[in-house]
Amino acid sequence: MRFSTIAVHAGQRPDPHTGAVCVPVALTSTFAMDGIGQLRGEFEYARSNNPSRHALELSIAAIEFGKHALAFASGQAASTAILDLLKPGDEIVATPNIYGGTYRLFHKVYDKYNIKISIPTDTTPSAISNAITKKTVLVWGESPSNPLLDLFDITETAELIKNFRNEKGVTPLLVIDNTFPSPVFQNPLQLGADIVTHSCTKYIGGHSDVIAGAVVVNDSELYEQLKFYQNAAGAVPGPLNCYLLQRGIRTLPLRMKKHEENVYKVAEFLRKNSSVEKVFFPGFTDFPRHELVAKQMRGLSGMVSFVLRGNIENVKNFFAGLNLIILAESLGGPETLICHPATMTHAALPESERNKIGITDNLIRLSVGIEDADDIIDDLNNALNSVVV
Ligand SMILES: *Cc1c(COP(=O)(O)O)cnc(C)c1O
Repeated sequence: MRFSTIAVHAGQRPDPHTGAVCVPVALTSTFAMDGIGQLRGEFEYARSNNPSRHALELSIAAIEFGKHALAFASGQAASTAILDLLKPGDEIVATPNIYGGTYRLFHKVYDKYNIKISIPTDTTPSAISNAITKKTVLVWGESPSNPLLDLFDITETAELIKNFRNEKGVTPLLVIDNTFPSPVFQNPLQLGADIVTHSCTKYIGGHSDVIAGAVVVNDSELYEQLKFYQNAAGAVPGPLNCYLLQRGIRTLPLRMKKHEENVYKVAEFLRKNSSVEKVFFPGFTDFPRHELVAKQMRGLSGMVSFVLRGNIENVKNFFAGLNLIILAESLGGPETLICHPATMTHAALPESERNKIGITDNLIRLSVGIEDADDIIDDLNNALNSVVV
């Protein structure tokens, strides 16, 4: 079946008992047994598994074209499950300008387990593979990255990593945080990645009303390991949140199409505005490695970042001049959200690190929503006009 059909039907067929067309929300923490060791159905205790989460995991595996999916209470809980595959002394190679919370998780939570993170300055496959050592267990990447929308060649990087064996004789696993493109526009498992992680809070949920995450893999052994951790550590989403995510998935392809249509218009507008110094948008033909959009993606989500001319006061005035667009963390909702990475999503990075990778005080990140593009542009235009420098 084609993507839109999968999004509507996978994991969401009518309930065999009642015929309910939508998956019933299973608000129960536990399941009656018929006797010792005799489950009545598939389920025993809702942390281990439950009908709502099971259905959602089938949906997410299907839209990511993977064999197995696991749902978590947040994107960070999903990332933590992957990091639990590490042991003290192991190393991670991560691409530059990943999500600030992931950076914080690596540096402030996992470094006490003696886990080293190395971040190459460049994202060419050779720069990434040159950072791999005998202790590397994971290579962690975002493409397009947060917030500068850097692209890296996932297929070529996966090919290079395959040649490595760490001191345990194991090939490092390639993890892709696929939150930004969503499964509609990129499927990293098909490009050679081993693990895909999502903040379902963003495009998958798509309505700014739920916090959740997911991990998708093909390898059954890896799945069993992660599934054990999911139950043992227990950072699982509740049944209502699972329902909301499945509801979001049904319209995901439609929404992504509108986000994409709008982001091209907004990016073009920003590029022509004299108060804007620079626009980061992979859809521009002169964007670094633009050819990867056609090579490994089917389109672009609503993300665009830009640098405003002037100083931090101009940035503050610009934000104050917005009417429609909402200053808030997060992305991927129907409403256009704007954010100041240096003090918001990426505040966890030390200033020197931020400046090194280009997350300066004048950098602004926009999650273009699904409103009418002209209204988004009018609002940006008014705010930009009020800060002419
Ligand atoms: C938001 C985000 C996360 C974290 O997800 P939560 O659901 O907020 O825990 C991870 N990666 C990326 C790229 C994100 O945008």
